[in-house]
Order: sequence, then C-alpha cells, then structure tokens
Amino acid sequence: MATTNKRDYYEVLGVDKNASQDDIKKAYRKKAKECHPDLHPNDKEAEVRFRELNEANEVLSDPDKRARYDQFGFNDPMNGGGGFDTSGFGGFGDMGGFSSIFDQLFGGAGMGSSRRANAPQQGNDLRYDLRITFEEAVFGCEKSFDFYRSELCDDCHGSGAKPGTSPTTCPTCKGAGQVRVQGGFMTTIRTCQTCGGTGKVIKDRCPKCGGTGRVKRKRTATVKVPAGIDNGQTIVMNGQGEPGLNGGPNGDLYIVITVKPHKLFRRDGTNLYLDMPISFPTAALGGEIDIPTLKGAVKYTVPEGTQNGTEFRLRGKGVPQVRSSFTGDLIVRVRVEVPTRLTDKQKELLRQFDESSTGKEYKDRKTFLDKMKGLFN
Ligand SMILES: [Zn+2]
Ligand SMILES: [Zn+2]
Repeated sequence: MATTNKRDYYEVLGVDKNASQDDIKKAYRKKAKECHPDLHPNDKEAEVRFRELNEANEVLSDPDKRARYDQFGFNDPMNGGGGFDTSGFGGFGDMGGFSSIFDQLFGGAGMGSSRRANAPQQGNDLRYDLRITFEEAVFGCEKSFDFYRSELCDDCHGSGAKPGTSPTTCPTCKGAGQVRVQGGFMTTIRTCQTCGGTGKVIKDRCPKCGGTGRVKRKRTATVKVPAGIDNGQTIVMNGQGEPGLNGGPNGDLYIVITVKPHKLFRRDGTNLYLDMPISFPTAALGGEIDIPTLKGAVKYTVPEGTQNGTEFRLRGKGVPQVRSSFTGDLIVRVRVEVPTRLTDKQKELLRQFDESSTGKEYKDRKTFLDKMKGLFN
C-alpha cells in the first residue's frame, strides 16, 4: 500500500466525519472564497491549498467516492492505491461546474472574466443630462425628453440571426461561452473569443441589426422633478434603461440635473442669496424697498442708518427641501451705492450737507480718526 502525507479531506474542509452534503457544500464555498487563486495572485501556497480543497470537495461531495474514502482513506485499491494525485502540475484537473460556483461566490461576471452563456444579465444603465431653469428646480416641474435606447431587434427578436434562421452552437466552446486556457501551473477560464461568451454563433446576420440583436430606438420619457432639487442631483427611473439579457431585468435611467444659474439669486442648499444695491439716502434715512423673491417682489423697510453689507433674512422665502415641508430663507445683503454723475445742484446739496456735519454722524470714522491720532505723536 502506498503511503501519503496528504491531509485528511474532512480536515481540509473543516467538517465533521458525519457532515451532511449541505455542510460540505457550505464549507467548500466558504473556503474556496478564502483561498481562490484569483484573490492571491502568485501565491503558491494558496494555489496548493485551493487544489487540495477542490480535491477534498470532489471526493466528499460525491456519496460514492466519499464512501470509498471513508473505507479506504487514500489507499483505495480502485485508484491504484495512490489516491488522487496532487503533486503533479496538471492544473486543477476537472474543473467541471466550477465556474458556476465561482459565479455564485462572486456575483457573476468579474474576476475570472468568465461568464456563463445564457445567464440572465441586467441591462445597461443609461444617463441623461437634463438642464432645467432655476425656478423649475425650486418649484419642481414635469419634463419630457427624448433619448436613445438600445432595444431588442424586432426582426430577429434579439437573436441577431437573419429571420428564418437561428444562431448555432459555438464550435469553439461547444456552447459553454467560455474556454479553459492552460497556463503552466494553472488553468484559467476565459470568455470564448469566437462567440464573445454567448455560446452561439450566427451564420447569416439579421440585416436590420447587423447581427447584434439590438437596435437604437428613440424613446420619450417624462420625469417629475421634485421641488427643491439641486444642481448635480440625480433622479433614477427604474427599469427605463436598456433591456436585460436572457430574461435579466432592465437597466435604470439616471437623470442628472443641471440647473441654469439665475440672474439675481444664488443658491446654497435651501437658502437663497441676493445682493441688493440701495441708494445712499435710503441707507441713511431708512425707507421702503421692493425686494425680489422667486414669487414676486415683497416690501421691506430698511431701517435708518443701514450700513453697507448689512444682511436681512426673509424667512421661508428660500428653497423648499426636497420631499419635506421645510423651506429655507432668502438672505438679502445690501450694498449702499455711492451716487455718480451728479448734477451741479446735487453736488451743491451734498456740499451743504457735508459742511453741516459735525463728525458725530460717522461713528466708525470718528473712532478711526481717534486711533490714527495716537500713531504720529
Ligand atoms: Zn435583428
Ligand atoms: Zn464560443
């Protein structure tokens, strides 16, 4: 009888001798995830562990092989007494069914660049950039727009084959959609180049779609833009993207909002900002001004002696929060404008005003002059 220094299969999988098939399956999947060579590139130890794991699984997941292993261990006379060979460099041996497990483990296409033919796949998501006005963003709106979407070809019903013919099984991969590539120590599974992973080839292409099975079609969508939406935000229309493959769900349509700037208002979240010039006499004497809001002008009384840069807050005159009853404020910053192009009469009035000043009228200026005095003495 041959001897072996191989680890016990139950130990490899980390299961009990009485483990159910379900336990073995679970243990295998968990361990395969941990030591899959794609996650440990160039790690020889992981490769060995992975091969060991697959071998253990191959035996223990098969009730007949398992029974023989339980009886004979590695010295099954049916196997010439040598057990399964793990010392050679023959790759993983039979990888049958492995890619589907791999897909389950890692969620479909990806790492191994292997994808099963005919597996349902979600359609592509689409993006549409929608430009709306400032007011439309603040108050909400309903918008219709045209976009192009790749859809199944009516003539060939998506098969890509000329009507009356049908696609045939790919001769390279025999319909599997993927091929094994021997690369020295490891066998990797790649998408079949001949059929692009579909497992089918088309002899006579459908003239309408050129064999792709898809045609671009113009569609119109209507979207309800909620009040308060902001620049750069996205609305998702579920299932409005491209159709899925092999019965997979449709992709989604992402509508990315661009808001045109406003001539007067600037927006920050739910607050609106407005820079408003007021006259020098209004600032000095106080008075009523018309402040524009997005819902028309409102009267506001500026108090006497209002300084340049003073801010007034108009509560609830800002932007509503999306899907909420809260509305932000309008913040008005006044800019006192110094008059220009004065007539001789106006200039004379200002001179008279200035001559009548005692200095007390300018609080900041007086403080400043007092400080300045100390500088040069
Ligand atoms: Zn077609
Ligand atoms: Zn193929």
